[in-house]
Amino acid sequence: MTARIIIKADREKPIINQHPWVFSGAIAEVKGSPAPGDIVDVVSSKGKFLARGYWNAQSQIQVRILTWRDEPVDDTWWFNALQRAISVRPGGDSRADMKRLVNAENDYLPGLVVDRYGEWLVLQALTLGVDIRKARIAEMLRELVKPLGVYERSDVDVRRKEGLGEVTGVLSGDEPPALIEVDEFGRKLLIDVRKGHKTGYYLDQADNRRLFLDLVKRLSDEHARELDVLNLFSYTGSFSLHALPYGRAANIDASRDALELAEQITQANFPDRDDLAEYILADVFEYLRDTVDRHIQYDLVVLDPPKFAHNAQQVDKAARGYKDLNLNAFKVIAPGGYLLTFSCSGAITRDLFQKIVFGALADTGRQAQIVRHLSQAEDHPVALTFPEGEYLKGLLLRVW
Ligand code: SAH
Repeated sequence: MTARIIIKADREKPIINQHPWVFSGAIAEVKGSPAPGDIVDVVSSKGKFLARGYWNAQSQIQVRILTWRDEPVDDTWWFNALQRAISVRPGGDSRADMKRLVNAENDYLPGLVVDRYGEWLVLQALTLGVDIRKARIAEMLRELVKPLGVYERSDVDVRRKEGLGEVTGVLSGDEPPALIEVDEFGRKLLIDVRKGHKTGYYLDQADNRRLFLDLVKRLSDEHARELDVLNLFSYTGSFSLHALPYGRAANIDASRDALELAEQITQANFPDRDDLAEYILADVFEYLRDTVDRHIQYDLVVLDPPKFAHNAQQVDKAARGYKDLNLNAFKVIAPGGYLLTFSCSGAITRDLFQKIVFGALADTGRQAQIVRHLSQAEDHPVALTFPEGEYLKGLLLRVW
């Protein structure tokens, strides 16, 4: 018998409105004894069917909803849900090779992330409900996408909240190579799916890198010269790779591995031009202060820091961090230059981020125009019923 999770009368609204999380505090009663990960029915206080999802008593989010329809959640259901997510991904020139195929709650598959890098898939199981089904999901993915293999990167902190440890390794098919070669907008990238950040790469910034590439090309054309680019928090140097050879770039990051890979990638693309880019192992806060002191200026600055606010309590401290960085970034931009500035903290709203950047600008006495509002890439959609899915926000600014 499927267990029935009875919801408190005053807590039904979000579930009816298709928010996919049922917190322990919303539950009046559990009828039956569901095992961890079992499919359960979510039922109103009056006994009406509301939704169906998977159970985890160890998590604060005790049910993650899979469907609001009274339909069986069996292998056919999972296969169809995976197929639907995969079939709507953007294709086109640059996205054949590399994209997010499943974006968890935002694709109505809570807890499941699947990214494609060439012939390989990388799966992240963020919840127990997905963890116990991951072998079968990997087989379905092989049938749907026909990759050479599915590699697991479930080495993420949030799993602890589900009572799970970290796991990595081959789930299905062959071992991926040490570096997977993929194409991004005509440039060759090397992805380390074992040790790289996230599932190996920041796919969420792809659309913004495309925009940056077009901007650098156009500006270099207009000015008829090579541009100077400062790529702060560069990771493996993708933003600046797209600026080459229209400009020269300095990549700043605190990860030696990321910078070494950045150098290898640049060499793979421009074997005869080791003058095009620099790789500087440094703390960006300190590096920027130093650059200000030395009165060095750039045509374009990319500022893409890691997540500073992991929850609402960290927002104030994070805001000070963003302000410091943006303040000094403005100072190192030549008049008429551009700043691409981001925050990937979900807890910092788009509105607040713009206010922080405004505050930084005000302290410099410079002027700036918003040229574009920026978001996570198209293959990272946000379910309208799940605002938590929106995290990356940014501004393209022209700075005077
Ligand atoms: N823009 C990149 C992604 C950046 S992710 C891309 O498009 O691929 C953030 C990066 O910041 C990581 O590579 C991390 O190593 C680096 N980092 C974190 N804190 C840092 C600090 N204080 N100084 C320099 N780099 C830092």
